[in-house]
Amino acid sequence: MIIGVHNSISGGISNALKECIFLNTTATQIFLHSPRMWDFKDITDEAYQFRKEIAQTTIKKVIVHSSYLITPLSKNAETVIRSRELINKELKNADMIYADYYVLHIKGNSEKPMEENIYELSDFFKKVIRTKKTKIIIENSASGIGSDFRNIMKFYNTLKNINVFGGLCLDTAHAFESGYDIRKKSGVIKILDEINDISIIKLIHLNDSKTELSSHTDRHDHIGKGHIGFDGFKNFFSFKDFDNIPLILETPKKDLKDDIKNLFAVKHITDSIKDSLK
Ligand SMILES: [Zn+2]
Ligand SMILES: [Zn+2]
Repeated sequence: MIIGVHNSISGGISNALKECIFLNTTATQIFLHSPRMWDFKDITDEAYQFRKEIAQTTIKKVIVHSSYLITPLSKNAETVIRSRELINKELKNADMIYADYYVLHIKGNSEKPMEENIYELSDFFKKVIRTKKTKIIIENSASGIGSDFRNIMKFYNTLKNINVFGGLCLDTAHAFESGYDIRKKSGVIKILDEINDISIIKLIHLNDSKTELSSHTDRHDHIGKGHIGFDGFKNFFSFKDFDNIPLILETPKKDLKDDIKNLFAVKHITDSIKDSLK
């Protein structure tokens, strides 16, 4: 099982690697800069250091989470231009640290018909840079157009021929908050049916939810402590489909002790499934 958490880059991006060594994790997810700011400093030297240090670790997957400001389908033309500039900078930097994936939310404009959303989206990404290694993966949201996997598949099918796209990221809290009851077999099957091809899910954001089913409100909780709960995650992991997909926890934390507890909770859940199969 490849598993990690969203790591802090305070003090530089290599700090994420120190956290991984401490937590004994095999994947890392980071922001490349403050996700609520447009500015961006040059990371060429830091990236070199990162590549050198990661070679000494057992980390198998490097994931960059995009900035929250990026809105390809914004009503504001200026924001669309700035979003593209920011995506291009982030992708260039993600490629520099040999990141496998760049996770992106596509919010969608609910005032426009789906066809227009799709047209604008393909137009937007035609002008996005091509990378050597890093692939964009689209994450489901807790609300709006991008919370429905049927819409996400329309986005993905439009974009998949652009070779910078690599697949999808499934966030368990967002799926639950948008109405997929993954505590039940039927809820997981609904997702699998709508995606129709498990191989395109490249990453799972494993989070419990502080809010109820269909709340459309994004609040992550500790694994097992939220509305999905231990039994809900046992149901989710009873599907063999998810066995080989890397997991990243984005659970609340005051310090790394919270990550340790949540990583332990995941192990407890997956071990209990293995035991029940014996
Ligand atoms: Zn996200
Ligand atoms: Zn997420």
